[in-house]
Amino acid sequence: MDLKLKNKVIIVTGGTKGIGEAITREIANEGAIPVFIGRNKINGEILLNDLKNQTKEAYYIQVDLNNTESCKSAVDEVIKKYGKIDGLVNNAGKNDSVGLEFGSPESFEKSLTNNLNHYYDMAHYCLDALKKTKGNIVNISSKTALTGQGGTSGYAAAKGAQLALTREWAVELLKYEIRVNAVIPAEVLTPLYKNWLNSFNNPQEKLNNIIQKIPLGKRMTTKEEIAYMVLFLLSEKANHITGQHLFVDGGYTHLDRAIT
Ligand code: NAP
Repeated sequence: MDLKLKNKVIIVTGGTKGIGEAITREIANEGAIPVFIGRNKINGEILLNDLKNQTKEAYYIQVDLNNTESCKSAVDEVIKKYGKIDGLVNNAGKNDSVGLEFGSPESFEKSLTNNLNHYYDMAHYCLDALKKTKGNIVNISSKTALTGQGGTSGYAAAKGAQLALTREWAVELLKYEIRVNAVIPAEVLTPLYKNWLNSFNNPQEKLNNIIQKIPLGKRMTTKEEIAYMVLFLLSEKANHITGQHLFVDGGYTHLDRAIT
């Protein structure tokens, strides 16, 4: 299937590592132009050089998205460089373990800034450009929005809000034919996930226990499998899909626990 994404300019927040890196790479593989955003200069440059060595067009913006002004300047930079934006993938985030019992109102608010506000800011500042291209938005949420995890109120609240905003923006942007969808991973072995595993006494045992509960294939979802769904949603093949929450999780969130 030709996704017809060639030369489309697509922003990926948190595009240097984990799921975001896979999305960045797949965008480049389709002949589209990933503009990927991260905080770490070296991580960004390594990925950029790797893509350039494969003669792929790509652009890295080193910025901390937790600052609204930085979101605006990142979008302005993309317009200055490429003159258009065809897609936005809101992906950057961190499960920062700000709980109810062992948290505070201040850390909760900070977690929302880290995980939620830049999803709005980036969509807001990209909107004028997306109107011109009838582009679209994909929000990466998390199964924690539906299942909870315990001890992570800020992250779970942000992930739930991302799902609500996906529907809200899908409705608001119908008149521009801008589609908005969410992809919901559950268990993907990324640097973020490894950090979380390392918070347990025996990370390998914890990982083995989780894998045993993943219905399809008793294995983790790969980051590429998340990326393939995102690419499909970004493409014109998904032209009649909007406001949807798509689970790429081997049945982890919904299938009957009795079968595992
Ligand atoms: P990851 O491996 O930690 O990668 C996160 C990326 O986001 C990095 O490129 C990081 O870059 C960037 N980032 C984070 N905060 C940023 C900020 N304020 N400004 C700029 N860049 C920022 O995480 P991941 O596991 O791939 O997760 C990606 C998304 O998937 C997140 O939204 C997460 O909630 C969701 N998710 C993941 C899983 C899973 O199993 N892994 C499950 C459910 C949902 P720097 O290091 O340079 O800051």
